[in-house]
Amino acid sequence: MKSFLLGSLVFGLSTFTVASETIHWGYDHEISPEHWGELNENFKECSSGKNQTPIDIRNTYKSVIKHKLNIQYKVSPNDIIFNGHTVQVNTKKDDQSDYLILDGQKFFLKQFHFHTPSENQIEGKSYPLELHFVNANAQGDLTVLAVMFVLGEKNPEWDKLWIDLSSKENDDRHLSHEVNLNKLLPKNLDYYRFSGSLTTPPCSEGVNWVVLKNPLTISEQQLKTFKVLLKNQDNHRPIQPTHGRIIIED
Ligand SMILES: [Zn+2]
Repeated sequence: MKSFLLGSLVFGLSTFTVASETIHWGYDHEISPEHWGELNENFKECSSGKNQTPIDIRNTYKSVIKHKLNIQYKVSPNDIIFNGHTVQVNTKKDDQSDYLILDGQKFFLKQFHFHTPSENQIEGKSYPLELHFVNANAQGDLTVLAVMFVLGEKNPEWDKLWIDLSSKENDDRHLSHEVNLNKLLPKNLDYYRFSGSLTTPPCSEGVNWVVLKNPLTISEQQLKTFKVLLKNQDNHRPIQPTHGRIIIED
């Protein structure tokens, strides 16, 4: 299940493949998030899960000892693809140069992608854009590092990514510009942390979520290019119940 799941994440398939059968899911009509759990046996957790993401981050517990986030994103990513659901940027296969350390474990960066508007909310506030850095440890357990964006100054790294993007679905393109991933992170790495799930089918749980408190900026024009690609449809899952989960603020 784990390698299965990671496969679909890493290679950015726009659909979830079970044996020879392909299950289409999306954000509206009969394949919208409310229906994901019914689309396939393997998607059941989307409706039955009790630790689902996204959530509205509130009533947090302040950590007594501050645990500084250790993010080591050193190498420029490899390729960019519009997979029909989002724009996804992949690292080189088996890349071990980009990682973060959580609870003493290394989680290697596999890919990152975008949602508009944001999936998670902070104290009921939604953001125009949320970036998800998907990291996996050697066992295939996941940590998603989320960064919010507000409208403002344009983001130079965004343009370096977008320049190679093909608007054709699943048309993977090699990145021609060096991208500094640290410029897609705020300087202040204060964060919220909770246990959650993938926000897309199969909605598997046991995912560590780290949501950075401080947003970056993106220009209206940059956000527009993403929205046009999505045919002006949102690609975010609605807020899920927390079911007594503890949210740590660090
Ligand atoms: Zn995501």
